[in-house]
Amino acid sequence: MRSERVHPLALGYAVLALVGCETRTGTSAIGGERLLHANGDTANWLMYGRTYDEQRFSPLRKVHEDNVGHLGLVWSRELGTTRGLEATPLVVDGVLYTTGSWSVVYAMDARTGEVLWTYDPQVPRGRARTYCCDVVNRGVALYKGTVYAGTLDGRLVAIDARSGDRIWEVLTVDPSKPYSITGAPRIADGMVLIGNGGAEMGVRGYVSAYDATRGALVWRTYTIPGDPSLGFESEAMRIASATWKGRWWEGGGGGTAWDAIVYDPELRLVYVGTGNGSPWFRALRSPGGGDNLYLSSIIALRVESGEQVWHFQTTPGDNWDYTATQPLMLAELEITGRRRKVIMQAPKNGFFYILDRETGEFISANPFASITWATGIDSVTGRPVESPTAYAGMNPVLVSPDPSGAHSWHPMAFNPSLGLVYFPVRDGASFLYRPNADWRPHTTRRNEGNDARYNGPLLRAWQAAPTGTGRLVAWDPIRQEARWRVDHPVLNSGGVLATAGNLVFQGRSDGLFVAYRATDGEKLWEFDAGTGIMAPPVTYLVGDVQYLTLMVGWGGDMGLVNPPTSRGARPGFGRVLTFALGGTARLTLPPFRHHGSPDTLGSASASEAAIAEGRVLYATFCFSCHGVDAVAGALPDLRYSTAEVHRYFEAIVLGGARAPLGMPSFGDLLSTAQARAIQVYILDRARELTAAPSNR
Ligand code: CA
Repeated sequence: MRSERVHPLALGYAVLALVGCETRTGTSAIGGERLLHANGDTANWLMYGRTYDEQRFSPLRKVHEDNVGHLGLVWSRELGTTRGLEATPLVVDGVLYTTGSWSVVYAMDARTGEVLWTYDPQVPRGRARTYCCDVVNRGVALYKGTVYAGTLDGRLVAIDARSGDRIWEVLTVDPSKPYSITGAPRIADGMVLIGNGGAEMGVRGYVSAYDATRGALVWRTYTIPGDPSLGFESEAMRIASATWKGRWWEGGGGGTAWDAIVYDPELRLVYVGTGNGSPWFRALRSPGGGDNLYLSSIIALRVESGEQVWHFQTTPGDNWDYTATQPLMLAELEITGRRRKVIMQAPKNGFFYILDRETGEFISANPFASITWATGIDSVTGRPVESPTAYAGMNPVLVSPDPSGAHSWHPMAFNPSLGLVYFPVRDGASFLYRPNADWRPHTTRRNEGNDARYNGPLLRAWQAAPTGTGRLVAWDPIRQEARWRVDHPVLNSGGVLATAGNLVFQGRSDGLFVAYRATDGEKLWEFDAGTGIMAPPVTYLVGDVQYLTLMVGWGGDMGLVNPPTSRGARPGFGRVLTFALGGTARLTLPPFRHHGSPDTLGSASASEAAIAEGRVLYATFCFSCHGVDAVAGALPDLRYSTAEVHRYFEAIVLGGARAPLGMPSFGDLLSTAQARAIQVYILDRARELTAAPSNR
């Protein structure tokens, strides 16, 4: 819980730099007024989506369509992580604030990459199993000299922007339940807004507002109703309870607000995107049906009280992990001759939505990806017409989009003069099947956050996903159609930045960072980052120079479905990269290398039955980090485990010998015989690898 001064000289520079401009600028001067006028503050990137409307459009045009070919690397900073990086860096007066894996916060000199301070909130590495989905973080908020960050284990931390010292910290969750925070906090009306995740593991979602100065809780608004016998927190919860059946609260219910939280200072409304149900399948969650409000919804809350004003549910009674937590964007659009304040979203379910953000009235929706779960949208109500074949039973059904969504958290960008929204699209499908009907989460050990018996059957429910296709689209929201699209050679690509230089920037999971012409999608420049990119770029000025910065290095659920077999996309090697015109720095890419060589030690003695048992256990307890069929993305590919790993296999898996490295103990869930079955399965997979090396 302490800040670590990585480089004394760098810190000295930081203090000088900040003291030098304290009177007029600097982080200490970022009050509410400055945030309200963030759009005119072209030199800086003060907030997650740059401005309150989260359009991620920079008016900077020093880098433009005619000179972007001269863009080059200025510096890179290795972060010593092999896990995914997803943060949007914030930049104010030449100082860059960002986050890495395990919720570690960094302040850097934006011109040089010199680390000014590092704040490690000391998230317990051995608890990784409790958190969905990998140990990622999407960034910080800045306000009045303070940096705010959520931590994976559910804390909200206020850090002195100058020194990196902690000012205050609050626990925002019940630590006995598997809540996590991966999203960026937002500042609204002197408060810090923070949500949480964990619907995959069985929790009830909510969003909290804390006083930015003191860290006191101002309000907390739940997204779904709890146990009715305890009373409802609000009228909205009472209304919602009529749309749930059975004893839904026992499985948590879900609806977590793990990413999109947007504030409209003019209407004084906070918009929150809510997540999927816990568990995924309504037949298990709410036997007897119902819409299960407010799962997979956009909800509007009064900023002063958190009281719900309106809601719009994108996927009623969600069965497919179709969250509506995806980025929310505010804009004013001319629709059928009328200027309207709208909110836009491209959620996982594959429809692009426009709503009136004053009233929540549905304006329009149209598919932006291949969809099989619904046949259309009711043009009046906005309610989807569900396909009866999309309901998974004990036998698998093939459904599009897959549970990673037609679009997930990867930020969208808007060019207001062209009227186009740019975002990554995934055309994926997966086989879904429901766990046993008699299975119930948390019925025996409800107070233990680590209960992987919930997680296991859920994850097993979506294997064997066929390969999909990915692209960047420029979406005309008024016409509800793509103006142009660029097809990618990979399924997954990252967040987007749009600039007044008629440019759109985006990275991809195969490691390319690309600039496109905003008007027609013509590729104008590219850079090989050598590792997968999911995070969005930002742009800003230091002096007269326009810089672009982004985090590179993938992991988590992207590593899961993207084994490192595609071109150049080495897992890990997380870095911050910064570019400017004429930049000449070189990126030295370490050669791709596994951590060991396949070892078939002892596999000869394993029976087919033991291997088969190990395969099922692996798919339940291991695949979410170590990859489908033991082919790993960012985390160790277990087929390459050394003889030493196999010798200590039981100590690692059951005894927690590698907990400090993020490998949790499964000693409370697996027997020695089960651990051995997983081991012989892995050895069998390694044997196949040795037999057919081209399989890697
Ligand atoms: Ca989910």
